[in-house]
Amino acid sequence: LHGKAESAGREVIAVDPRNTSRTCPECGHVSAENRPTQAKFHCVSCGHLAHADTVGALNVLRAGLVRRNANPA
Ligand SMILES: [Zn+2]
Repeated sequence: LHGKAESAGREVIAVDPRNTSRTCPECGHVSAENRPTQAKFHCVSCGHLAHADTVGALNVLRAGLVRRNANPA
């Protein structure tokens, strides 16, 4: 995957997937209780509601951007 993406001129950033599906994108609260069901995200701290897949994707994207800013090429 890495080599393929590079040859296509894209940037690949490795992201630690831990906690991405249970971290609130609104307030940053991390809890397994933020996930009442497999498909649903409901922050127990601020009440933010979203689809679990959306939250996971958002958090992975943010983690990648943070990494890139910390290690400028
Ligand atoms: Zn929250």
